[in-house]
Amino acid sequence: MNDAAERYVKLVLAMGEHDSDYVDAFYGPAAWREEVRATRPTLRFIHAAALVLREELESLAMPADPLESLRLIYLRRQTDALIVRAEMIEGRRLRFDDESQALYDAVAPTHEEDYFRRLNAEIESAVPGTGPLTDRVEEFRGQFVIPREKLDAVFGAAIAICRARTMEHMPLPPGETFTVEYVNGKSWSGYNWYHGGFHSLIQVNTDLPIFIDRAIDLACHEGYPGHHVYNSLLEKTLFRDRGWVEASVYALFSPQSLIAEGSANYGIDVAFPAGERVEMEEKHLFPVAGLDPSRAGHYYRVHELISRTGYAGNEAARRYLDGQISAGDAAEWLTTYALMAPERALQRVKFIEQYRSYVINYNLGKDLVRGFVEARTQGDSQRRWNVFADLLASPRLPSGLVSS
Ligand SMILES: [Zn+2]
Repeated sequence: MNDAAERYVKLVLAMGEHDSDYVDAFYGPAAWREEVRATRPTLRFIHAAALVLREELESLAMPADPLESLRLIYLRRQTDALIVRAEMIEGRRLRFDDESQALYDAVAPTHEEDYFRRLNAEIESAVPGTGPLTDRVEEFRGQFVIPREKLDAVFGAAIAICRARTMEHMPLPPGETFTVEYVNGKSWSGYNWYHGGFHSLIQVNTDLPIFIDRAIDLACHEGYPGHHVYNSLLEKTLFRDRGWVEASVYALFSPQSLIAEGSANYGIDVAFPAGERVEMEEKHLFPVAGLDPSRAGHYYRVHELISRTGYAGNEAARRYLDGQISAGDAAEWLTTYALMAPERALQRVKFIEQYRSYVINYNLGKDLVRGFVEARTQGDSQRRWNVFADLLASPRLPSGLVSS
């Protein structure tokens, strides 16, 4: 399997020469990347080689060892996604659900407008004011913006808290570290770039005002126990300890991303179950941001309700990418049902155009990871950490979260 894995890694790297978003992280042998840069295989070559690799992976006998068998199933499925992505760069267009199935091994449920109207009705009663709900939500949230000059202090505090909490429950590779950088002009609001050697660079986009909930969101999602920990554990347990080279590369448009985004989002609930988040924010983050701690409870009640509108974003993307609605309609849908201010909705439409059906990885990913972990923990908090840590350090697929 090692030989097949090496070819998989080189194909992913070769894809990166045609699709600048494709290789999200690589910390394997530098010579492999140099080789790919020097020879620069064509898409047609990559596609043909991937089909051959896929056939060979199919012919390998399923190993008896559970982790080894996950590895083989993972390599097969990741290669399937690479084949489809290569076809997409050459112009193939799939319907939204077919694309998400092909690339991320999952399909988001469909909801009609009525579903989102009912959610809005619930949110109505929690947000003060009488005007259109989106305006009221924006005005309410506007009272909880982290002032620009306090961003660094608030993020620093949030990261320290998330890191300490994660280390209490799961061992992290020694010397792991990450740096934060502030950027502009991106379609995303935060991004973790894993550099290998247990180091990440986290970029925070400051184009739009940053609400207080984003502090823990970013610190957990991008950092602890999210992307930074996920990548560090893959590097430590699979790449370094076992020598599995496929763990040294992260293909963005692949099933791995649903596990990555889903675990990063669910990681917030792992680190701060139930009321613990509000308590921590009151004590540690609201004061650093200069916000009134007594309002944290109300803010997070509203925040929790609004987070249920996550599937509205999938719906906007599905309808827009399937050609049923225009970009303007998609932005309006996000404004109405995901309760985003117009400028946030426009940023999100740009994200949808760049990353397409990737959007399902956040909310559906979170639900699938939560389902997998909670079915195995019976509400026990340390068990939740253990199952979560095992998931982060294994090559599990989205379909494997549901079926196993
Ligand atoms: Zn993410």
